[in-house]
Amino acid sequence: MQKIPYTEMLKARKRRDARYDGRFYIGIRTMKTYCLPSCKAKLALEKNLVFFSTKEEAISAGYRSCKRCLAGQFPNTYPLWLEILLTYLKDKISEKITEDQLVQIANVDISTIRRHFKSLYGLTPISYHRKLRLMYAKELIEKGVEFKEIPSCCGFKSISGFRTAFIKEFGHSPGEINSASF
Ligand SMILES: [Zn+2]
Repeated sequence: MQKIPYTEMLKARKRRDARYDGRFYIGIRTMKTYCLPSCKAKLALEKNLVFFSTKEEAISAGYRSCKRCLAGQFPNTYPLWLEILLTYLKDKISEKITEDQLVQIANVDISTIRRHFKSLYGLTPISYHRKLRLMYAKELIEKGVEFKEIPSCCGFKSISGFRTAFIKEFGHSPGEINSASF
């Protein structure tokens, strides 16, 4: 791999440029941790930075992976917090959730959460969750669960709100699944 000039690495870090993730790692001398260029943690002073071309280099110099950007797991697209969030979203299939709840669970800022969902699913986390809930609703309808039960089972307050969201997601009304009166 071509060596990236020092000034370019420094600029990439200052911009928190994710395009450089995996191309080099940044150790912080005072913490003995190493980060991805896109890490959202507070920028360390330049004099405390040490640049590595690979994770292995960082590790053999005695640095540990940063807990925030999880540099050690790169390029695994599934940081631990994401796995936790995905499980949480499945568990909350009967509730409408907010971005604040996600931030609290993941302990990561919302823009990082959104970025990961966007790259994995092309959706915001809230839209992703709505889709899960609607797919669950579809399953329930197919199983013959009573219609008036369905919106509350999948986190919708009203039948009309549910119906609108369903049509938007699947392009037809819920009733068309088994000719019911939705
Ligand atoms: Zn970091």
